[in-house]
Amino acid sequence: MKYYLGVDVGGTNIKAGVTDESGKIILKHSVKTNAGGTAQALADQITLLCREISKKANIPMKDICSVGVGIPGTVDSEKGIVIYANNLCIDGEPIGKMLEAGLQKPVSLANDASCAALGEFVGGSGKEFRSVVMVTLGTGVGGGIVLNGKLWDGFQCAGVEIGHMVIQNGGEKCTCGRNGCWEAYSSATALLRDTRRAMEQHPESLLHKVAGPSGKISAKTAFTAMYQGDQVAKSVVENYLWYLSEGIANIINIFAPEAVILGGGVCNEGDALLNPLKKLVYEKCYGGDRIRHADLRIARLGNDAGIVGAAMLHQA
Ligand SMILES: [Zn+2]
Repeated sequence: MKYYLGVDVGGTNIKAGVTDESGKIILKHSVKTNAGGTAQALADQITLLCREISKKANIPMKDICSVGVGIPGTVDSEKGIVIYANNLCIDGEPIGKMLEAGLQKPVSLANDASCAALGEFVGGSGKEFRSVVMVTLGTGVGGGIVLNGKLWDGFQCAGVEIGHMVIQNGGEKCTCGRNGCWEAYSSATALLRDTRRAMEQHPESLLHKVAGPSGKISAKTAFTAMYQGDQVAKSVVENYLWYLSEGIANIINIFAPEAVILGGGVCNEGDALLNPLKKLVYEKCYGGDRIRHADLRIARLGNDAGIVGAAMLHQA
C-alpha cells in the first residue's frame, strides 16, 4: 500500500492527514497556524505536523510517497513557490523547497480551493465523474475545476476566482473592488447581509423571533423562518437562490462539467436548497430543459476535502 500526506494550510489552522492511495484519510490532526512568522517557520511547523501524524498513524515516513500542500493564495507549483498569500503574510517564498528539505519527500503545492475540488473529485461527491466544478459558499465564493481528470489550477496555479464573475452591473460592492460579483450575492456573508436588511425593513417578520433576543443571525436564519411560513424570509431565500443559480448556470454554460458540487455551511439545508436551485439553474442553462445538464450535488467531505485533494496532488 502507498501512503500520502495532505496538508491544508489556512490563516487560522493547518490541517493535515495521511491517506492511502485511494485518498481515504487514515489519521488527521490540526494545529493553530503561526501566521505572521517567516516562511521557514511555517515550513518547520508543517514539517513537524507531518512527522507527528506519521508517528501517530504508525506509518513511517519511509512509506510515504509524497506530500501535497494547499495554500490560500497564489502558488507557482512547478517551482514550489508561494507567490502571494495575504492571510499567511508570505510573498515569493520557496516553501516547497523548504518542505522538501525538511521532509525528504517530493512536495507539491497548489491553491487550497483547487485542492478541495480535487478532494471531492477523488473521494467525495465527484467520484464517478471526469469533469467537475466545485463551488464553496462561505465567507466568499471560492471554487476549483477538474477537467478530464486533471486539476485546472490556472495560470501560475493561482486557482480560479469564479466568485468574482460579475452578475449584476453596478451591483453590490465586492471585497475585490468591483461591483456586482457573484460572491457579493451568493456567499454566506451576502445571505447574512440580506437577512439583516430584511429584518430592518420588516419588524413584523418571524426572522426576529428566529434570531432571538440577541439578534444573532446565521446563514440558517432565513431558511428556518421560511420553513415556519414567513413570507419575508421566503423572499430573502428566493432572491439568494436566484443569484446563486445565475452563477451556476454560467459555470455550466462555460465548462459543461458533468457535475457542479456545492460546499459550505449553506448546503446544510440539503434538498430545501438543492431542489429549487436545480429548477432555476436548468431553466437558465443554454438549451433549457431540452438538454441534460450537469448534476448539482452537495459536497460530501466537508473540511476534509482540502486534505484529501492535497494528498492526491501527485496524480493531478
Ligand atoms: Zn469580486
